[in-house]
Amino acid sequence: MSFDGWLSARLNETKKAGLYRHLRTMNSAPHPEMYIDGKKQMIFSSNNYLGLANEKQLIYAAETILHQFGVGSSGSRLTTGNTEWHEKLEERIASFKQTEAALLFSSGYLANIAVLTSLPEKGDVLFSDQLNHASIIDGCQLSKADTVVYNHIDMTDLEEKLKATKSYERRFIVTDGVFSMDGTITPLDKIMSLAKYYRAYVIVDDAHATGVLGEHGRGTSEHFNVLPDVVVGTLSKAVGTEGGFVSGTRVLIDFLLNHARTFIFQTSIPPSSCAASYVALGLILDSEQKRKHLVLNVNQIKTGLIEMGYKVRGNDTPIIPVIIGDSQNAVLFAEKLQEKSIYAPAIRPPTVPKGESRIRLTVTSEHNSKEIDYLLESFKLIGKELNMIR
Ligand code: PMP
Repeated sequence: MSFDGWLSARLNETKKAGLYRHLRTMNSAPHPEMYIDGKKQMIFSSNNYLGLANEKQLIYAAETILHQFGVGSSGSRLTTGNTEWHEKLEERIASFKQTEAALLFSSGYLANIAVLTSLPEKGDVLFSDQLNHASIIDGCQLSKADTVVYNHIDMTDLEEKLKATKSYERRFIVTDGVFSMDGTITPLDKIMSLAKYYRAYVIVDDAHATGVLGEHGRGTSEHFNVLPDVVVGTLSKAVGTEGGFVSGTRVLIDFLLNHARTFIFQTSIPPSSCAASYVALGLILDSEQKRKHLVLNVNQIKTGLIEMGYKVRGNDTPIIPVIIGDSQNAVLFAEKLQEKSIYAPAIRPPTVPKGESRIRLTVTSEHNSKEIDYLLESFKLIGKELNMIR
């Protein structure tokens, strides 16, 4: 049996629609400048928002524990894969997020799946923001509860939908803290008020907010000074390492430890990685200057692009989507950027809605103003060449 026939036909359709994807090889550490496919490029697309992925203190911590514990954890947490470093990291996550307890997962993706498949039961309902991350969408689909999608950060729509669904046993509102493709911040204070009035639990995915939002980088809760019922997060973005987590009450964590299949049946992340994350979370609390520099970088890029006439979305977060519209044009734009040694890929459906393909820029605290000037100059030249701006 060969897959060549129908799978190739499907791939050709994908190509025709301008949606074909392929991998690129990174040949160096994730600095603002790195080698990709052997060519030096300026990166405006990584999630290494505070530059911690190649921070020496993290590397040293990981290396030390690597020599003591080896390269793999060799088991799930409930068998042989639980070390003092997993526990130390969980304690630190809990204190970082100012919750009673936390639980580690292999990724943020699996943490979302865990929460959404083990908390809501049949007879319950989930209210999910229209632009939530794929892992939340998948989690809602896998859940036995019903899902109601509300318009992106539209509190009037959410309230109407909460009002209209009183017959359910339990209600959950699930939202990204910072939306990964739009850079918008969820109005968590308003969501908490609605949840209190309409008796709903709130689940926040703080993947892009952890390390970035709030005075100490604790995330969306600190930004709005509220405490949702469940905080999901990832260590793979500003924290600079890998793994996901859930933080909340001790009962919640005990429940997930006993019921979440993506916790029970997965090999735990290596202790060396936990040690690096442990150090990173300590550094993040004291990274106020980096966060200030990050906001300056965000503002410099957004102001520059808006002045040129680009349609730019998002709040003051490191995610800066520049809307191009058509998928083929977005790909062409990304290619032109690459010719100028700038790496910022085109984001197309199904990741974003049809007709809203974009260049998704991300900026870090490590970019300097010379690099940002070069990015802006390149946008000006390419935009004029492609008749997208005047
Ligand atoms: N949630 C959001 C909002 C994300 O952007 C991502 C990563 N793309 C995840 C969850 C998944 O996190 P991880 O990469 O740790 O699986």
